[in-house]
Amino acid sequence: MKSSAWIEKSDKYIMRTYGRFPLVPVRGEGCYLWDADGKKYLDFLAGVAVNNLGHCHPAVTAALAKQAGELIHCSNYYQIPQQIELAELLCGLSFADKAFFCNSGAEANEAAIKLARKYSREKYGTDRFEIITALASFHGRTMATVSATGQEKVQKFFDPLLHGFRHVPFNDAASLAAAVSPCTCAVMLEPIQGEGGVVVPDAGYLQAVREICNEHNLILIFDEVQVGMGRTGKMFAHEHFGITPDIMTLAKALAGGAPIGAMLATDELAGAFTPGTHGSTFGGNPLVCAAGIATVRAIMEEGILNRTCEMGEYLVGEFEALQQKFPAIKEVRGIGLMIGVELNIAGADIVKKALERGLLLNCAQEKVLRFVPPLIVGKKEADEMLKIFTGILEEL
Ligand SMILES: *Cc1c(COP(=O)(O)O)cnc(C)c1O
Repeated sequence: MKSSAWIEKSDKYIMRTYGRFPLVPVRGEGCYLWDADGKKYLDFLAGVAVNNLGHCHPAVTAALAKQAGELIHCSNYYQIPQQIELAELLCGLSFADKAFFCNSGAEANEAAIKLARKYSREKYGTDRFEIITALASFHGRTMATVSATGQEKVQKFFDPLLHGFRHVPFNDAASLAAAVSPCTCAVMLEPIQGEGGVVVPDAGYLQAVREICNEHNLILIFDEVQVGMGRTGKMFAHEHFGITPDIMTLAKALAGGAPIGAMLATDELAGAFTPGTHGSTFGGNPLVCAAGIATVRAIMEEGILNRTCEMGEYLVGEFEALQQKFPAIKEVRGIGLMIGVELNIAGADIVKKALERGLLLNCAQEKVLRFVPPLIVGKKEADEMLKIFTGILEEL
């Protein structure tokens, strides 16, 4: 079926929660996608930082195919070897001692919120439940994570929100310290804001936050749903800042595109989740965890982190050179392959023109082009992207 026929059917049957582009991808390989009409696209969005290993990485595809033939799902009433192995890998790579698996970033954050509240109420009493989060943050679309998110556009229409969240400006440790009260139980932050427009905090901010948490016995939760799994050139973004949280959430890139979420915590905190206190039917099932194991191993064994640092530096350098030439570019920022190019003009038109020319881009917060390509991107694909992007800037 042609793309146009799919789009017509979509209008009839699919709820309009997304402003979808008229693109119908049907096949992917590495950094490229092909649509239903056979047109090829260079993918610099990567499913919003999900396809870190590119489309259909052979190791992930093979792991899914093998596992699909052995056991797809069984209940969390039983032991799941793939889940255990993935938890061991993630704990070995991080500060964490234990993992809980679910199916998305929002659910991972829900689990973190519930764990923080349960731990705090048992240790300090029922008055201690409030969680401080940042303005312009994004933590998901469930009611609790919408309440945690510091953006009105995500929250409006859904009142009453969940009680117990307080929002402070990001990258401002003094405001955060001033917001702490006897009710506060935790601080939840993205180490680098993604949807907020690729906002990298100043050196020292997250360290100051860690100190505030230590001083008041607050739980520090890092939402690494977007920036984890190698995106910034380290396995987890907080490694750049020389501190560790008490809880970390992961999702997007964790299983190479298979739907998964994970909430990792220290033993001290994890102890608050006793049998029957939280759960998920699909969470950490054999199929997605097999994909997760293959993904984590590929990131570690295929030199992905070094490559991400190198390509990130290359792209930031090239974008800065473009900034000298084109007044439309206001600022270039990012770490690894989490790059934001802030414009002086709206970005939607550039995204549309790029799509027409076979390049997939994304715009966050109206004026920030977010470049989150697969981490396997090479100089050839980067130059192809730069050529198209430069062409669009020249025509503005
Ligand atoms: C995407 C994202 C989420 C939500 O993840 P879903 O899988 O869509 O629920 C949460 N936090 C951050 C930082 C994200 O980028």
